[in-house]
Amino acid sequence: MIKAAAVNKYFGDLHVLREITLEVPRGQVVVVLGPSGSGKSTLCRAINRLEPINSGEIAVDGVPLPAEGKALAALRADVGMVFQSFNLFAHKTIVENVMLAPVRVRKVGQAEARKTAMELLERVGIANQADKYPAQLSGGQQQRVAIARALAMRPKVMLFDEPTSALDPEMVQEVLDVMTGLAKDGMTMLVVTHEMGFARRAADRVIFMADGEIVEDTTPEEFFTAPKSERAKDFLGKIL
Ligand code: ATP
Ligand code: MG
Repeated sequence: MIKAAAVNKYFGDLHVLREITLEVPRGQVVVVLGPSGSGKSTLCRAINRLEPINSGEIAVDGVPLPAEGKALAALRADVGMVFQSFNLFAHKTIVENVMLAPVRVRKVGQAEARKTAMELLERVGIANQADKYPAQLSGGQQQRVAIARALAMRPKVMLFDEPTSALDPEMVQEVLDVMTGLAKDGMTMLVVTHEMGFARRAADRVIFMADGEIVEDTTPEEFFTAPKSERAKDFLGKIL
């Protein structure tokens, strides 16, 4: 579903993605771990073509990047992205936030978009908040709306970049539960997170990045119990 081959990315002299090669097959959940500055966010942004790359190839569902124009718009619609900050539209209600992109981009009718939005809000457990405004919701609820909003475009892949990092601890689990549900439903997911419990339980694979490189690409079981590289051992030593 996602294929990257020998991807390199520089910011000026800084080589932030080094020969990144990875594959996320349909239905797999891949968790990306690594220290701050290792290139995890840049990798997500490159997959969604929010960030141009200097060399290499990235394809999503067989559509190679760099795509332009209509192909790029289609690709963006196929890749749902959830960030640390939820960026909901403050002056729109929760249900309107979820309806917006399908109506504008997919040209779905209002009634149908609302129906789908309500189903998705149900799925993330906040249908009863549909007519409120974002500021009236907790951080965890807002992040669940952001997930519903991304799902409203019927993406083939979901990218999550530290979706729980900005949340108060008591709200982390409700968001992870929604993500676990998505994983169980067979969504293809690439998840950057520091939530090791989620990585252990929900991931099919763990990718460990350091200094722009993929250092390990293995099962959660193996990564957490028998990391091979010094850098992974060092990382785990600090966080576990
Ligand atoms: P974190 O865990 O802190 O989110 P990360 O693994 O997501 O880190 P990236 O945000 O991908 O790391 O950054 C990788 C490197 O690229 C870092 O050294 C960062 O300072 C640098 N970088 C990121 N974005 C830019 C930018 N727009 N311009 C210049 N350098 C950047
Ligand atoms: Mg990051």
